[in-house]
Amino acid sequence: MARRCPECYAELLDDAIWVCPSCGYTLRMPGSAKAGIVFMLLGLALLGVFVYGPENLGLNSGVMPTELANLTIANFPLLVVGAFALGSFLAAAAALKIRSEQARVAAA
Ligand SMILES: [Zn+2]
Repeated sequence: MARRCPECYAELLDDAIWVCPSCGYTLRMPGSAKAGIVFMLLGLALLGVFVYGPENLGLNSGVMPTELANLTIANFPLLVVGAFALGSFLAAAAALKIRSEQARVAAA
């Protein structure tokens, strides 16, 4: 049985992986989009911790070596920015992937 688009019920060809050829509906999210969202949420959580104060996390209470705890606290802004940057990079890569298929099905 042929797959159908949940949006417009058009039959889907086997090469339509991410988007519906008739309406452009996004059928599936690439894994990198999900990973990107996870990293952005992680960045958001880290940002919350940063506002709260990473030194209040109890990292120095013996959970991890003091040096590592101090290093984490000192580089916390970098950690926040890094998670956000990685997240947006993955999301952008996923968006490009979807967009290139949209262009391909539009040209077909
Ligand atoms: Zn459709």
